[in-house]
Amino acid sequence: MNTNTIAVLTSGGDAPGMNAAIRAVVRTALADGIRVLGVRRGYNGLLNGDVIDMNLRSVSDIIHHGGTMLYTARSPEFSTPAGVKKAANMCRNLNIDGVVVIGGDGSFRGARDLTAEGILCVGVPGTIDNDIACTDYTIGYDTAMNTAMEMVDRLRDTTESHDRCSVVEVMGRRCGDLALNTGIAVGATSILVPEIPFDFERDVVERMRFTQRTGKKHFVIVVAEGVGGVSEISEKIQQETGIESRATILGHVQRGGSPTMRDRVLGSLMGNHAATLLKNGIGNRVVAMKQNKIVDFDITDALNQKRVFDVERYHIAHKISI
Ligand code: ADP
Repeated sequence: MNTNTIAVLTSGGDAPGMNAAIRAVVRTALADGIRVLGVRRGYNGLLNGDVIDMNLRSVSDIIHHGGTMLYTARSPEFSTPAGVKKAANMCRNLNIDGVVVIGGDGSFRGARDLTAEGILCVGVPGTIDNDIACTDYTIGYDTAMNTAMEMVDRLRDTTESHDRCSVVEVMGRRCGDLALNTGIAVGATSILVPEIPFDFERDVVERMRFTQRTGKKHFVIVVAEGVGGVSEISEKIQQETGIESRATILGHVQRGGSPTMRDRVLGSLMGNHAATLLKNGIGNRVVAMKQNKIVDFDITDALNQKRVFDVERYHIAHKISI
């Protein structure tokens, strides 16, 4: 099959660096003589034909912006079999031969279903959570880590001035990577993640008491969103240790901001790889970075891979932040 037209969309939660990926898809395809359509607001744009013709200049001046120039959405209608069929028909009406889907694993399930309806799809992992098993890094994760680190550094200034404890929630519902690396980077006394069960007395209170005995007067506890309950944790710390404690939820600031160099480069390389697969008539793949190389996997295999949390790094973090 000749690939004449491809489409690109962003779906699910936005992540800094998605624009770099869009730009790379568009420029790679155009260089290969392939027409590119930008689909707006995720799969919703495929359901209602909300597409724009992309040229070289459509993606100018976006590489340094967070968010996504194509907007993003969650589309309940698309996740039904009838919705997928409707989207596939729209692709046929618009002569779309293949679609690059930039998003998380929910979006990849959609891409798998759309491929099964005859529209070749390639997934590009864009999510700040780093919760995609098949890739070492997802687009947006590095920026979010740097943002979280900078925000906790700011909290630390005031925490230190008042001899307080800061309990900080960072994003990551099922994945503690962001919490783990932020915790290492800010020297958190304790890091709580969904992957590792914890004992409040042993892993929080006792650690704080130990560091206090050795002269520490202010504390940062980093908690992944999937563990949650930072207000309760903060109150309990204050009750049990007498150390004044404050809870902060960093929230959506972690999703925004200018992408780091790493995310711009990763988005660019992954976008290029996705467009090249479609040019070669290859779909049902997810692009990934493994050991610093851009590779791709079958979508179903990718979705079935189990994420492995870096337990060793978790223990190192606690050994050195004491
Ligand atoms: P993410 O891609 O970031 O994981 P979501 O899980 O919200 O975000 O998924 C984004 C969109 O992908 C959903 O709104 C829906 O349209 C589509 N989607 C999610 N899960 C499925 C599924 N099991 N089958 C088909 N489409 C899905």
